[in-house]
Amino acid sequence: MSFVVLTAEWFHETNTFNRNLTEYHSFMDRFGFFGADAIRERGDANTELAGFLDVARRHGWETIHVLSASAEPAGYVTRDAFDRLGGAIVKAAMENKDKLSGILLGLHGAMVTEFNEDGEGELLRRLREVVGPTMPIAITLDLHANVTPLMCELANIICSYKTYPHVDMRERGNQAGEILHRAMKGEIRPRTLRAHRPMLDEANGGRTDIGPMVSRVAEAVAYEKETGVYAVSINAGFGNADIADVGPTVLVTYDGDEAQHRAFAESIMDDIWQKRFDVLNNYMPVEEAAAIAKAYTRTKGPIIIADYADNPGGGGYGDSTNLLAALLAAGIEDAAFGPMVDPEVAQQLRAHRVGDKVSLQLGGKTDPRFGGGPLHVTAELKLVSDGAYTGDGPMVGGLRLSFGPSAVIQVDGIEILVTTEPAQMLDLQQFRAFGIDPAAKTVVGLKSMQHFRAAFEPIAGQVIVCDSGALCTTYLDRLPYRNVSRPIYPLDRQMAR
Ligand SMILES: [Zn+2]
Repeated sequence: MSFVVLTAEWFHETNTFNRNLTEYHSFMDRFGFFGADAIRERGDANTELAGFLDVARRHGWETIHVLSASAEPAGYVTRDAFDRLGGAIVKAAMENKDKLSGILLGLHGAMVTEFNEDGEGELLRRLREVVGPTMPIAITLDLHANVTPLMCELANIICSYKTYPHVDMRERGNQAGEILHRAMKGEIRPRTLRAHRPMLDEANGGRTDIGPMVSRVAEAVAYEKETGVYAVSINAGFGNADIADVGPTVLVTYDGDEAQHRAFAESIMDDIWQKRFDVLNNYMPVEEAAAIAKAYTRTKGPIIIADYADNPGGGGYGDSTNLLAALLAAGIEDAAFGPMVDPEVAQQLRAHRVGDKVSLQLGGKTDPRFGGGPLHVTAELKLVSDGAYTGDGPMVGGLRLSFGPSAVIQVDGIEILVTTEPAQMLDLQQFRAFGIDPAAKTVVGLKSMQHFRAAFEPIAGQVIVCDSGALCTTYLDRLPYRNVSRPIYPLDRQMAR
């Protein structure tokens, strides 16, 4: 018999310290596609949906795909956005519940709404109300999910990304779909257990290219081959969420004896806890980064300076000026910088012609306490664009995305990409589509924590990371936490377990 499976993709990583609410249009601005449109845009790329459809083809499922939507990380998701997008998924489940065999969702796992700390848990709760307690539900999650006990109780199957930079979306979609298929056949009855420690941030931010996560992921993959084990997920958590259930988790999706699998999950969690003081990354002050860039001699490629703290992919505003100011003060030449998210300036520049000299108050407007206030600069306008680009790297290759109305300006020795919409730098086309070739520059300043490495390390002569003091600063004691359970590492550094 063939199975009918309801599918959807709905992603948000909510930075609860970000002042900007995430509204319905925030999803539509990044991407929001319904039904066949979603399949056309995302059905054959490195996406969860493509993985779901791979499984559907292999097993002859009929799929009902509701939507694929994602907003750039920012503040709380509004009730309106949650009810409309989550509501569409629940409504489709209601309309089709008599013929559905299972539900397969691509989620992030760190959604916080205006009315509920656990967006994914709330979606699953509403779905369970419709389809009952026994229908198999499988979900994929981002490695930066804050996984709650409720999510594990309501989803039978959870498969989180095992890579950061995230490059295994389609693979995880396949994994979750295959487990779901066995559950729908009645061959297995999977459920998911969760181990957790009171931490805002796991050491090393979940990087899977170096450090202790490499061996943890290898252990997880090996354990997935044990009898009765279907998926092991190590979530680094997302520390910029002021919620009770914040922090890293280890999940095992299994059948059978819980005690054995729990012991495995706890052993990985213990390793994460014990290594919490290890310093693996050097987040340098912007002045130090600028001095290193000034002394850099280009050989095989540019020096890449990543601003970790103003990463729009973690809910940073993308308008921090501290790094750009330091680069300008150091007299850096032959450089590119982006993005500088400033809708006002992007709009202002549209009234000018290429070649015009324009006086600007650039960036730093959203919340200057984090990352610096506006810079007064005189710029030459080099290009005006609608901001659209198509990725060609390992993360977003083939996907059509947009920065919204954008411009390129030259200030002293630096070409700067000014955008309307925030997005982190993770693909070379985010510069190249706007006439900037990062590989040909001596210095490239960009906003990203880790994802940039997938596309930019291959062109780089050297990579350094700095902390501009913007909203995703590594100094977590500068953020006004109120709702996290205390004590918690690193706010209460002296705590015992
Ligand atoms: Zn992530």
